Amino acid sequence: MGQGLSCTTSKEHELFTAVQYGDIDMVNDLLEKDPNLVHHTTLYDRHSVLHVAAANGQIEILDFALNRSVKPDVLNRYKQTPLMLAAMHGKICCVKRLLRAGANILKFDSIFGRTCLHYAAYYGHADCLQAILAAAESSPVAVSWGYARFVNIRDGRGATPLHLASRQKRPECVHILLNRGALVCASTGGYGCPGSTPLHLAARGGSIDCVRALLAWGADRVQRDASGRIPYVVALKHKHGASAALLDPASAEPLVWPAPLKFISELDREAKALLEQALLEANRVREKNILKHTAYSLPSPSYSDVGTDDNTSETSDTELCCICFEQVCNIEVEDCGHQMCAQCTLALCCHNKPNPTTACLTPPVCPFCRSSIARLVVAKIKDQDYGDLDSGDIGSPKLRKSRKSCNFSEGSSSFKGLTAVGSFGKMGGRGSGRIAADNEWVDKP
Ligand SMILES: [Zn+2]
Ligand SMILES: [Zn+2]
Repeated sequence: MGQGLSCTTSKEHELFTAVQYGDIDMVNDLLEKDPNLVHHTTLYDRHSVLHVAAANGQIEILDFALNRSVKPDVLNRYKQTPLMLAAMHGKICCVKRLLRAGANILKFDSIFGRTCLHYAAYYGHADCLQAILAAAESSPVAVSWGYARFVNIRDGRGATPLHLASRQKRPECVHILLNRGALVCASTGGYGCPGSTPLHLAARGGSIDCVRALLAWGADRVQRDASGRIPYVVALKHKHGASAALLDPASAEPLVWPAPLKFISELDREAKALLEQALLEANRVREKNILKHTAYSLPSPSYSDVGTDDNTSETSDTELCCICFEQVCNIEVEDCGHQMCAQCTLALCCHNKPNPTTACLTPPVCPFCRSSIARLVVAKIKDQDYGDLDSGDIGSPKLRKSRKSCNFSEGSSSFKGLTAVGSFGKMGGRGSGRIAADNEWVDKP
């Protein structure tokens, strides 16, 4: 190596150190003396200025370099883009800036053939994951590839971002990906070969939150991997007892988010949050029952225990759900306008996992009037017009007062959330509170 080269090398070294620590003045200085330096890369890994800035969250320098016409998709030795490094290190500002600069989200590295979405999911940076997914909706990728295909993009080993998030115990990312259309039963095998599902990898990782989320999205507990194992066996092998208890095919099936239903896919944000919370609580009750008989307890707090009893006693009768008489009426069925609580709505709409042979479900109807459900919205309790009470609209349960005082010998304490649904028979013939009995949706204990 000649003298000149080593001089450049030491300048490079200075530059990359300045970039790493965000010394913008020094970077400016060095580049004024030699503008070409901005296109140099580190000696071994061949990181560009953008790579180093992105990995270290140096947004000012990233901005500076992008404005000096450094291309956002410059590659290092492993064909990683600066966007991948920003997603790996959770530098959301840099992720957003690179996306704004038109960084390509469809680049694959040469290590495991992963994209920036894989990196965000693997390292559990939910904000970066969201930003990349949002970009995918509006970028040329959505047109050329299709958004759904991008969400389920596979790395060199057939793993989707959902596989990686499940394996690495990233429940927040698992949840986001499922909500954005990630296929819950995707297999790493592909083309008919058995492989691991996200549930297998969650079982291996042992995150009960990931297991719970995947089950609530309909993950199959009896699907087998390449070695013929079901997720339960994988959890046992890795000594994740609590996860294994939930994955045991002999234990109660969890309620499943009814994603295929049209009115569920069209929920507004608020109604969706209510229903998701209800699903979570219902499944927690099941989990408690399952784990009660094992040596394991739930590591996370149980929401369903928090103050619901007190709330109920304070709730005015007009707001109570007249199916369970326990929860507040917070979901309204359109177009008929009947109201019930989120728990009951889910119990009516949210079948246990559909039988694969009869996957085509008949869409559920309003339990009060049997009309088809066009939409579910958050009930507007304030807007009730009680003046209509005597004007003949007895078909509307939301207008009934004093429901609690109706002859209801069991007492409301025996009606707890979803368990109430199994007890409809006892309420038959009770005027407006009557359910159009049809056991197809009754939740079997
Ligand atoms: Zn209810
Ligand atoms: Zn109705």
